[in-house]
Amino acid sequence: MKLSKRVSILAPSPTLAITAKANELKRQGVDVVGLGAGEPDFNTPAHIIEAAEKAMREGKTKYTATAGIPELLKAISEKFERDNGLTYSTKQIIVTNGGKHALYNLFMSILDPGDEVIIPIPYWVSYPEMVKVADGVPVFIEGAESNAFKVTAQQVKEAITPRTRALIINSPSNPTGSIYTRKELEEIVDVCLTHKVLMVSDEIYEKLIYDGHEHVSVATFSKEAYENTVIINGMSKPYSMTGWRMGYAAGNEAVIQAMVDLSSHSTSNPTSFAQYGALAALTGPQEPLEMMKREFVKRRDRVVELLNQIDGITCLKPEGAFYVFPNVSKAMAKMGYDDVDKWSEALLEKEKVALVPGSGFGSKENVRISYAASMEQLEKGIERIKRFVEGA
Ligand SMILES: *Cc1c(COP(=O)(O)O)cnc(C)c1O
Repeated sequence: MKLSKRVSILAPSPTLAITAKANELKRQGVDVVGLGAGEPDFNTPAHIIEAAEKAMREGKTKYTATAGIPELLKAISEKFERDNGLTYSTKQIIVTNGGKHALYNLFMSILDPGDEVIIPIPYWVSYPEMVKVADGVPVFIEGAESNAFKVTAQQVKEAITPRTRALIINSPSNPTGSIYTRKELEEIVDVCLTHKVLMVSDEIYEKLIYDGHEHVSVATFSKEAYENTVIINGMSKPYSMTGWRMGYAAGNEAVIQAMVDLSSHSTSNPTSFAQYGALAALTGPQEPLEMMKREFVKRRDRVVELLNQIDGITCLKPEGAFYVFPNVSKAMAKMGYDDVDKWSEALLEKEKVALVPGSGFGSKENVRISYAASMEQLEKGIERIKRFVEGA
C-alpha cells in the first residue's frame, strides 16, 4: 500500500517494542516488574465517575459544541483564574480529546511547511513527531544533566532562525520531572518575545509538584507573554483520567478558533459524558489529588535513594511529575553496552524489569523509570536492576 509522505516519516515509538515484549512475557506468566507506565496507577476518583454516569443516564450522550460544553469551558476559565491568575474568556479555550490532541491541533493550526519548532531534549516522545506530521521541522537543543536537564535562554536564542515559529516548554517535565524556576523562565520568555517566538507551554504536570516548589506559567510574566503563549493542560495526570481523553488548550482567540475548526472536521466534540466527568474533576474535592501527591513523594524519595546506591547509576531528585531519569552510562560502559536500547532490552530479558530507554526522549545515557507503581514493585524492580548491574 502506498502511504503518504506524512506518515512515512513518523518514527515508530521506540518505547513500544519494549512494552510489547513486557506484555508478551506477562502473558506467558513471567513475573515482570513494569516501571514504564506513563499514567498514574490510581483509579479515577469516585465522584468523577459518578458525575459521568449521571450525565449518561440523563441523556447527555449526544453531540456537544465542538469546543466543549459551556459549563466545562467556564470551569476551566475559573481554574486559570484561581490557580494561575490568568484570565481567559471561554472563547479562548478548547476542550480536546486529551492534551495530546490539543498539541496536535495546535501544531496543525500554526505551522506552515518548513516552520521550525524548538524542542528541548529530553523531550516528551510525541513532540517531534507531531511537529513533523504538521509539516514543521523540529529543532533540538539539549538540556544538560548538570542543569537538571533544563535548557537556558542562551541556548534558545542560539537556536532561533527566521523560520522559528514556536518553543515547547514542558515544566514539570516528562521524562525528567524537572521544573523551571521563575528566573529561568523569565529569561526564556524575554528571548521568545524579542524574537516573536510562540511559547507552547505544556502544563499537564502542573499539579504534581513537590517540596513546596511553585508552578509558574510563562503566560503570567506580562501581557505580551500572555498573548504569545498557548497553554496545554488536561485531566489525565492530576485526576488519573488517562483513558477518558480529556485535555484543553487556552490562548489567543484566533488560534483557538482554528483548533476548533479543525476538530469540527475531524474528531468533533470530545466525548460528551467524559466532559461532565472533567467538570466534576475541576470543581469537586481535590483530596484524591493530594493523597496521590503524598504517595508519589514517598515513592520518589525511596526510588532516588535506592537507585543512587547502585554502582554505576546516578539519579537526580526530580521536583515534579512521576518519573525519574537516572543516568546509566557508567553501568552500561562497565557491562560492555554502548546502546541504551540494548541495555534496557537485556535488563528485561535477564531480570524481567521493563523501563523506557532514554532514546525515545532524545537521550543516550538515561532511562525513564515511572514511580506510578506500588512501593513493593518499585523496590523489587530496583533490586533487580542492582543485580543486573552489579552481578549476583
Ligand atoms: C501525558 C502527557 C500529555 C497528555 O496526555 P493526554 O492523556 O493526551 O492528556 C501531554 N504532555 C506530556 C508531557 C505528557 O506526559
